[in-house]
Amino acid sequence: MCGIAGYYSREEKDAANQVMLMLYAQQHRGQESCGIAVSKGIKLQLHKSMGYVKEAFPEETLERLSGSVAIGHVRYPTRGDAVIENTQPYIIETLSGPIYAIASNGDIVNYDEVANELRVKGVHFSSKNDGELLGRFIVYYHERKDMEIVDAIRLLMKKIKGAYSAVFLTCSTLYAFRDENGFRPMLMGQRGNHVAFASESCALDILRVDSMREIQPGEIVVVTPQQEIYQSHFHAQLLTTEPLPTPQPHHCVFEMIYFARPDSYQFGEYVYEVRQQIGARLAAYDDDIGDVVVPVPDSANFIAMGYALAKNIPFQMGLIRNHYVGRTFIRPDQYTRDESVRQKFNPLKDFFTGKRVILVDDSIVRGTTIRKLVRMLKGAGAREVHLRIGSPPVKFSCYYGIDTPNPSELIANNMTVDEIQEYIGADSLKYLAIDDLQKCVQSCDKFCYACFNGKYPVPKSQMGVETPVGEEVGK
Ligand code: SF4
Repeated sequence: MCGIAGYYSREEKDAANQVMLMLYAQQHRGQESCGIAVSKGIKLQLHKSMGYVKEAFPEETLERLSGSVAIGHVRYPTRGDAVIENTQPYIIETLSGPIYAIASNGDIVNYDEVANELRVKGVHFSSKNDGELLGRFIVYYHERKDMEIVDAIRLLMKKIKGAYSAVFLTCSTLYAFRDENGFRPMLMGQRGNHVAFASESCALDILRVDSMREIQPGEIVVVTPQQEIYQSHFHAQLLTTEPLPTPQPHHCVFEMIYFARPDSYQFGEYVYEVRQQIGARLAAYDDDIGDVVVPVPDSANFIAMGYALAKNIPFQMGLIRNHYVGRTFIRPDQYTRDESVRQKFNPLKDFFTGKRVILVDDSIVRGTTIRKLVRMLKGAGAREVHLRIGSPPVKFSCYYGIDTPNPSELIANNMTVDEIQEYIGADSLKYLAIDDLQKCVQSCDKFCYACFNGKYPVPKSQMGVETPVGEEVGK
């Protein structure tokens, strides 16, 4: 999880403001903390804060951050605690002052191995965050081994395994790069002489970019100032490297099911279209079992819509979500999660009485939220609640940046589908089959499905963690 943004303009001084707008559009990717680093010419300036983007960047703060190149980050912690020290972007201080910054999305699976190698070479870390590791790696090879930054990033891609989409800032140049598997999304947009990078296209839409494309897995894009001959102003010069030869991308399919905003375009297709197809596939499993289709808002809205359209059954928003409570799935501790379920959803009064309800959710992780919701609907008078899930059972943990819990906490790792149905109290329960999920995305062999089938694209030997039952891809 997490969302990143980068913006480059040589004419305007409002890069931090543009980055703030992009972070705002990506708030769903992380709500614990956020930050923006901006170039002030000969040094960088950083502002970071716990909490939401809206509160972190009032007008007076943005005025202080005036500058033409900036990067930003919204964070949900998957490595390291939710404290300000782990908040990104990371500024890397050198003898010349704060002149490098980085923001990244994803999880590095060989973190310990690479961090220890750098420690032996005399590099010190102030946090346990992946972003800091990426930044210190680049700066070490650039400053102490005289490598060009692009070459240091190339080396990083060969040595550091796992998921990372990142933006790296110097006082004059902006770099964007993505791991060779392309686990996490990352796009680039251009409007005139302005260049923007973001985790999701919805953030670039806000800037009304003229053109947009994905950063390829293993690609580095560099935006540098280039002075026009006979003129005093600069133009952005775009350089891109040939992507690393990668045997196979492995985009996170969970981004399409749950995590990304439905209005985003990523991995070559529109998220809302994939979700509607998932709903239609689920509908094909059933005869006439319900009077109304109700989503668990918001991530299941389009899946439920696809189901309802395919079956010609009314789609109704019978559950109302309080949008000012954070996502249940991404709140770390159990107490907060339990409380927030009650605070977050409320059924429409008299709506469910006597109805056979098809309740649609995107996934079941621990089962605690959906169990409460099924009880809530029955308490509100529903005659039957048939639960349909837009993904296969989540049985394995993710090591590539989505905060699924330890396998022992995953309900599908401990119970059969029948047992889950009984525990949850639904009248029936069906999950989407993995081969049907694969039919809902255009290039099914370019996705990672490891949390469903345990086939981890990055070999276990590089993870430094004990992986559960599944296999590595290709074995
Ligand atoms: Fe996405 Fe699951 Fe793969 Fe993690 S394991 S990258 S959540 S598909």
